[in-house]
Amino acid sequence: MIETEVLIVGGGPAGAACAAHLRQHAVDCIVLDQVPFPRLKLCAGWITPSVLDDLQVYPAAAPFGLTEFTAFQLSIKGIRFRMPVHQYAVRRVEFDAWLLERSGAAFAVHRVQEITRQGDRYVIDGQYACRYLVGAGGTYCPVYRTLFEPGNPRREQDKIIALEQELAYSGADDRCHLWFFEHGLPGYSWYVPKVGGYVNIGIGAMAEKLKERVDTLKRHWLLFQDTLARQGLVRGVDLQPRGWQYALRRRNVPTRIGNALLAGDALGLATRDMGEGIGPAIRSGLLAAAAILRGGEYATESIPRFSLPTLLRRRA
Ligand SMILES: Cc1cc2nc3c(=O)[nH]c(=O)nc-3n(C[C@H](O)[C@H](O)[C@H](O)COP(=O)(O)OP(=O)(O)OC[C@H]3O[C@@H](n4cnc5c(N)ncnc54)[C@H](O)[C@@H]3O)c2cc1C
Repeated sequence: MIETEVLIVGGGPAGAACAAHLRQHAVDCIVLDQVPFPRLKLCAGWITPSVLDDLQVYPAAAPFGLTEFTAFQLSIKGIRFRMPVHQYAVRRVEFDAWLLERSGAAFAVHRVQEITRQGDRYVIDGQYACRYLVGAGGTYCPVYRTLFEPGNPRREQDKIIALEQELAYSGADDRCHLWFFEHGLPGYSWYVPKVGGYVNIGIGAMAEKLKERVDTLKRHWLLFQDTLARQGLVRGVDLQPRGWQYALRRRNVPTRIGNALLAGDALGLATRDMGEGIGPAIRSGLLAAAAILRGGEYATESIPRFSLPTLLRRRA
């Protein structure tokens, strides 16, 4: 049995941020992830300046590819305009690997399945034992499912579903485009250029609202493909998007039960207007680590519930 003070399930932004803070305070911790890093994570990779602040990264010296946007090209119900902003984008495959590496924590590839209690320890698959357990395993995190879901199941109205693809595309437009509520979509679609000639295209929506309208994300993807071709953004490519779901932020969800804590998508923290989850994952990972260090729960009040006010406030 491998013993550690803190075991973190999931090496994404939530788990890596938590591990980094614990290691800064010399706490013994191990991060487990079901796949080796770098790994694919479906995500547009848009981040706000606060994410860089939380990570204490100076944009000009970022050790990962960082695209800077001074404006978004918006379309709201078909009306197009340019909105000045001060925002960034990363490639998750690269950014997450850097975050995890930077944490300095021990890492092992292990798919967590069974969590049991032995005295004051959590035992993971009969192989790892720890005093504190952090669930940072995203939407299907086994810590959430085993210890939190029974008393606090997620609600259907908080579920966001998305289809996405990141591809190398020569001659890509270097502007970031967002389309809100096109063709009655209860959500938005995006075109986010990245460094190295990559572009991320995708579409996300409130699952319950789509269902109420007897509509599908697949139908909207086909319409979105037409828009991309019509606007000359992506054409002549056989697109094969992949899907994922995650949970929007809601109030009064426990962050800690016993010595088990949740962070990031495992807790369900994405902003209610834009589904922004990277910043909330990092902030909650840091807060979870601080809660372990001082004892007690952690509050999520300092994590913004909406992205739009930050976007408007941070004009260049
Ligand atoms: C299509 C799409 C686009 C998005 N675009 C944006 C965006 O532009 N900006 C933004 O801020 N947010 C975006 N998000 C949300 C954002 O990706 C997530 O909120 C963020 O990744 C959450 O980080 P996390 O660390 O909580 O979880 P994750 O990044 O999902 O990491 C969880 C980790 O846990 C591991 N894991 C899972 N189960 C186990 C297990 N049983 N055992 C061991 N390891 C396990 C996984 O392999 C994974 O590495 C998007 C989401 C989607 C689906």
